[in-house]
Amino acid sequence: RPVLGIETSCDETACAVYDGERGLLAHRLHSQIRLHAEYGGVVPELASRDHVARIHELVRQVLAESGVPAAELGGVAYTAGPGLIGALMVGASVAAGLATALDLPLIPVHHMEAHLLAPMLEERRPTFPFVALLVSGGHTLLVAVRGVGDYELLGESLDDAVGEAFDKTAKLLGLPYPGGPELARLAEAGNGSRFKFPRPMTDRPGLDFSFSGLKTAVLTTLPQAPEAADRADLAASFQEAVTDTLAIKCRRALDATGYTQLVVAGGVGANLRLREKLGALAQQQGFELFFPRQAFCTDNGAMIAYAGWARRAQGRATHAGPLFTTPRWPLAELRPPVAA
Ligand code: ATP
Ligand code: MG
Ligand code: FE
Repeated sequence: RPVLGIETSCDETACAVYDGERGLLAHRLHSQIRLHAEYGGVVPELASRDHVARIHELVRQVLAESGVPAAELGGVAYTAGPGLIGALMVGASVAAGLATALDLPLIPVHHMEAHLLAPMLEERRPTFPFVALLVSGGHTLLVAVRGVGDYELLGESLDDAVGEAFDKTAKLLGLPYPGGPELARLAEAGNGSRFKFPRPMTDRPGLDFSFSGLKTAVLTTLPQAPEAADRADLAASFQEAVTDTLAIKCRRALDATGYTQLVVAGGVGANLRLREKLGALAQQQGFELFFPRQAFCTDNGAMIAYAGWARRAQGRATHAGPLFTTPRWPLAELRPPVAA
């Protein structure tokens, strides 16, 4: 039976209905970008309030669009963490209310598990095992994925997440919030080999990342880039350094695991230069590459509905107990679902 998924971990209010046989039946999203733009970042209190204001209508809309009467759902999934605690509580409360009223299973979902399973919503999808590169606003992770809930952390960022580095660098370049996609757009017109930036931590073995130095390198180069055209070169050179670094580590992770499939998910997975570079590497190295569609790289309800359905279909949820939410939740702590 179809699962309703609710996402409110940060600044997107989103819902979707996923069915194992019929696929994605409906999905809706409301982005709070404009609400937070004047502050240059997400204001947690405003985020929570806006989720409260939007969530009921969104749930009503996806249920109507899916054609599934609420009572016929197989469960209600919600993002339990990691994320902003006040924002998470909104989705959790609505999900728990629905599940209680309709006597349905309540399924807490790990936000990053949902991101890494998002390619499963596509027609061309990976099979287990695969390597996942999770690149979002708050995380940069390389994960060996053996099955749902069976994850081994191979590497992570020791400081800024990739999305965060994009956003902070965009701010330095005077671009509006949220800067990642803006920087990518500016980079399209630039010469990516003009400024020589490091490929951090690629000169030594290992799968960890560090991106805060790159942001500083851009800051110290800024005086050499006074004109708009120079800024485009700077943006392009930064993007080259980041995407090269990610590609080098992906190749290493595939070598280390012996896996032949790479999944790239999370907001930075929408970056076209990254897609292009990994596509070329996949051809050259003979591995298969999978992405969610661009709209499902950033936060969305479809991935929550899917992850909830996958957990439910295979047995136990990630966590029992009423209204489970947590701001921090290491992915490697998850366990595979077990048959009930
Ligand atoms: P997390 O999933 O870690 O909790 P999040 O949910 O805020 O963080 P996502 O919604 O997955 O993150 O992704 C948002 C991030 O992706 C932002 O940092 C944004 O700048 C970045 N991003 C989105 N599109 C692009 C792009 N085309 N190029 C580079 N970065 C991008
Ligand atoms: Mg967001
Ligand atoms: Fe996210």
